[in-house]
Amino acid sequence: MTKSILRIIPLGGLSEIGKNMMVMEYEDDIIIIDAGLMFPSEEMLGVDLVIPDISYLLEKREKIRGIVITHGHEDHIGALPYLLPQLNVPVYSTKLTHGLISVKLKERKALSGANLKVIPPGGQITLGKFRVEFFPVCHSIPDAVGLIIQTPIGTIVHSGDFKLDYTPISGRPTDLSRLAQLGRQGILLLLSDSTYAELPGYTPSERVVGEALDRIMAEAPGRVIITTFSSLVSRIQQVIDSASKYQRRVFVVGRSMNNIVRMALELGYLNAPDGILGRLDELKGMPHNKIAFVTTGSQGEPTSALVRMANRDHRQLHIVPGDTIAISATPVPGNEALIARTLDNLFKQGAQVLYSAVSQVHVHGHGSQEELKLLLNIVKPKFFMPIHGEYRHLSLHAKLAQSIGTPKENTFVLEDGDILELSPKSAKITGKVTASNVYVDGLSVGDIGTVVLRDRKMLSRDGIVVLIIAVNRQTGKLVGRPDVVSRGFVDTREAKDMLDKSRDLVARVLNRSGDRPAEWSFVYVKVRETLNKFYYEQTKRRPMILPFMVKV
Ligand SMILES: [Zn+2]
Ligand SMILES: [Zn+2]
Repeated sequence: MTKSILRIIPLGGLSEIGKNMMVMEYEDDIIIIDAGLMFPSEEMLGVDLVIPDISYLLEKREKIRGIVITHGHEDHIGALPYLLPQLNVPVYSTKLTHGLISVKLKERKALSGANLKVIPPGGQITLGKFRVEFFPVCHSIPDAVGLIIQTPIGTIVHSGDFKLDYTPISGRPTDLSRLAQLGRQGILLLLSDSTYAELPGYTPSERVVGEALDRIMAEAPGRVIITTFSSLVSRIQQVIDSASKYQRRVFVVGRSMNNIVRMALELGYLNAPDGILGRLDELKGMPHNKIAFVTTGSQGEPTSALVRMANRDHRQLHIVPGDTIAISATPVPGNEALIARTLDNLFKQGAQVLYSAVSQVHVHGHGSQEELKLLLNIVKPKFFMPIHGEYRHLSLHAKLAQSIGTPKENTFVLEDGDILELSPKSAKITGKVTASNVYVDGLSVGDIGTVVLRDRKMLSRDGIVVLIIAVNRQTGKLVGRPDVVSRGFVDTREAKDMLDKSRDLVARVLNRSGDRPAEWSFVYVKVRETLNKFYYEQTKRRPMILPFMVKV
């Protein structure tokens, strides 16, 4: 290996939102930053979640010194339960992030054997030739950090997810003075969050949401139901604060949210006045205007409490007219349809529903353009690489950097798997490693490939036709006409003639081929070809065609 070259390899999170994972490699040392998951998009049928492909790391397992986690969101920690059993290296994070990782590993029964270490914001660790310092950043979760990474060839700043909220709810504002101090000493490379690089101006402060929640708690005639991400601890705090101001008790609904609330209370990241948190069995007889619920379901997740309530499917809770529901989260791309359906169902049941389109019940946790420019100005990196975002976000962020003076040839827009090689004086993209999606489906990880997905897509769109072909065991000749069974393809009564014709067609093709029908590979290909063409001509659809042969 070439000496004195630092490699930066994103394995996830570049050119997509989610499954963030970054590899830094110098000689015999590798560190990993974040290990997140991504929620599947609509065409990934039946896939529960997506995690990064770590085949590159598996080859170099003995060089990995540790995984450093910037904060406790799913897109930064969600892959750990699947990856740790394969990598088994120490994981470094702040206290709340550590708590969230533990909850997650426990849920997936992967906690035992995991080596989790807590580092305070401002703390430092040495991992091989890397020295990593955690600096506090403000984000939509407390205890989020960015990283200052000292390497033998220069200093790298990784922003994590951040915004510049000067009045955050919990956690500290982004530590700009530490960065300014470093900026004066010279930074080789800045990696910075691009999620909201499209938005001009500044991201509003979390305070705005507090004010909206206050109004809701004060004015709602009945119960208030706030739904958000379970990891949005600061939002849960805001719900508790605002409920207690208006003499409402707070009921946490749902297992994952209860687990996280309990952990955050224990660690001191959530504060609840005595008696404000209630158990569901205490609800009976309470006046509705004294009740607030906080629950998951902001993404329309089918198993969440909110969606169950919306579908009249929750054991204990039902929506009643007079309820006010606030969706305090941004839709994750791909979930819009599910969310819209949930909103409609809630309206149908007489609830008043507030969501970001009609009320400021949520602000996002990422910096907008002015904040991104400010960070660039303070850090003054020699090289710049936008991270965390779709390709357009990364490109726009690179343009922003250029607009304030970073030379174009010093900005690098990478995609997952690209290798950026750095020396103290130069940087270039030199190649690519495998960095595809690994699909998690129920309990299986990585068993489903693109072929399975293609099949699922085909089945969902055009259905399936099964063909049963009987041949004589002795002569190998066709017996009678093949049978056709179809599902999800055409209305079998209306299309009876067409399906009949297809049986005749197959019979003709197979009889014409002399005594070869018994030769399975021939039959399989021939039948599929013939029917593919015929069905497409007749219906403009391409069902999956599965020929079966029975010997009689
Ligand atoms: Zn985040
Ligand atoms: Zn993120």
